[in-house]
Amino acid sequence: MVINTDKLPNVRGEYKFNEPLSKYTWLNVGGPAEIMFFPQDEEDLKFFLQKKSDDMPVFILGGGSNLLVRDGGIDGVVIKLQSPEFSYIRCEEDKLYCGAGIKNFALQKVISEKGLGGLEFLCSIPGSLGGAVRGNAGCFGTEMSDVLLWARVMDINGNITQMSCDDLKFGYRFSALTDKQIVLDVCLQAHITDANPVKEKIADNMQYRKLHQPQGIKTAGSTFKNPQGYRAWELIKNSGAAEITVGKVKMSPQHCNFLQNNGNSAKDIEDLGQQIIKKVAEKTGVNLEWEVKIVGKEQNIGS
Ligand SMILES: Cc1cc2nc3c(=O)[nH]c(=O)nc-3n(C[C@H](O)[C@H](O)[C@H](O)COP(=O)(O)OP(=O)(O)OC[C@H]3O[C@@H](n4cnc5c(N)ncnc54)[C@H](O)[C@@H]3O)c2cc1C
Repeated sequence: MVINTDKLPNVRGEYKFNEPLSKYTWLNVGGPAEIMFFPQDEEDLKFFLQKKSDDMPVFILGGGSNLLVRDGGIDGVVIKLQSPEFSYIRCEEDKLYCGAGIKNFALQKVISEKGLGGLEFLCSIPGSLGGAVRGNAGCFGTEMSDVLLWARVMDINGNITQMSCDDLKFGYRFSALTDKQIVLDVCLQAHITDANPVKEKIADNMQYRKLHQPQGIKTAGSTFKNPQGYRAWELIKNSGAAEITVGKVKMSPQHCNFLQNNGNSAKDIEDLGQQIIKKVAEKTGVNLEWEVKIVGKEQNIGS
């Protein structure tokens, strides 16, 4: 698609054109965003959505930690909430109010200093709070649906609604949010406790990850969801799929549900995933489903 840039709304935030998305994804792959838009604040985002032409597709990018963006990139406008207005943190007694653009890692200080029990799990999940709501992110026995009181969400026409857990219909790595809804901010419920046990729990969680999950690699975390009654890594290991390689891309020897990109294309990564799905199905009869979200278009051969 070719967007007539003269017709872009006159926003206060920033546009970037033909912006490589590999810069924004943990897998470090992905072709360009035709246009990238960094709104200055909520009003700016609303103005953009209301003034843009109806046929202009939009995609909302969080921290890029759960995405495989294809090599041909994303047509239309990729929106990223990264201005300070989308990254605020406010703690009032046992409630934490945050902008959806904030990185989960950045919540560690407030959660530990204020003794916000129950929110420790969030501090070790890569990505943004908006992405965590969208996918009901979780670990160490807690997920977003356990701690979220509400999320304020803007639709594609700029209308805002406050959604409860019931509205969001959370499931395993699932919410009812669609690609046409943007989480603006959230309210999380904690239970106040002493700072020390909270700090210790955060440190224990981090330590567990260091010991059991690969560090410092280009990955998107768990590649496949755990099918009901199974663990994805066990299925991959027991079916021999952990040994498959495509180019230099392979599953991590330390955790065979973590993809490890060693300088490959998005196509290689997707091919590896598809081969693993096929092999696991052949050997076990169980169908793995991608947890990583695949977006964008394939690169035209010759382009
Ligand atoms: C090393 C590693 C470890 C991981 N461990 C875990 C784990 O323990 N548990 C877990 O659940 N996940 C884990 N993940 C996956 C990932 O961190 C989560 O899925 C995370 O919540 C994704 O957030 P993000 O901001 O990076 O979203 P992105 O990857 O940018 O996007 C994911 C989806 O969320 C949407 N989205 C992003 N922001 C918004 C917004 N503001 N409003 C609406 N939609 C939005 C996007 O459109 C897309 O559909 C891990 C990933 C890595 C790399």
